[in-house]
Amino acid sequence: MIGIYGGTFDPIHFGHLRSALEVKECFCLDEIRLLPCAQPALKEYPNTTSDKRLKMIELAIQDQESLRVDSRELNRPGISYMVDTLRSIRNEISNTSLLLFMGTDAFKEITSWQQWQSLFDYAHVIVITRPNYQQQPLNEFLTLKLTQNKEDLTKKPTGFLFFQTVTQLDISATAIRELIANNKNPAYLLPKQVIDYIKVHKLYTDN
Ligand code: ATP
Repeated sequence: MIGIYGGTFDPIHFGHLRSALEVKECFCLDEIRLLPCAQPALKEYPNTTSDKRLKMIELAIQDQESLRVDSRELNRPGISYMVDTLRSIRNEISNTSLLLFMGTDAFKEITSWQQWQSLFDYAHVIVITRPNYQQQPLNEFLTLKLTQNKEDLTKKPTGFLFFQTVTQLDISATAIRELIANNKNPAYLLPKQVIDYIKVHKLYTDN
């Protein structure tokens, strides 16, 4: 099974890294790929260039064999639609189960994603939640996709919706950018190598 963890990663932080590692172990994934997007469809265009966001991910995972980066969205022009990405990954992995991970904030907007129903043709969707998360009512389509049985995810390569609780650190890239813009120290929220890179390249200082 392969996992995909998409985001803008502007910058990558321990909230992303901890949950990516945890889901890798929890689902016994062969690999988990962090997938930076070039141009989000539903968020503002990231301030930081693609190559710098990619470099920060590479620095963050350089000592962690369990995590990989998939840069295909950065190499594709235009808005990064997840459905295109999943289709392209699916072409490379034939019938392997593919798990698309997203936080509850992203899941809330899933019905606004381009061809959102087709996501389930290429992958399972796994929503990572905090403990005691109160699930909102699902629409009819999503209700039909929902399973409570983790083993279903290995029985078919695509098509299920599953909720998984993970440790979620209360860290956001927005808060980190604000700290730096206000001359505060972001230590312990993201890897030191990434902080050093941010300093050298003077990122987020003029937000
Ligand atoms: P921003 O603050 O710029 O919106 P972010 O910190 O939310 O950024 P993204 O790159 O937008 O990070 O998020 C990528 C994915 O990581 C999303 O699915 C999001 O739900 C998830 N995520 C973000 N922060 C955390 C966290 N602290 N713990 C677990 N998952 C997270």
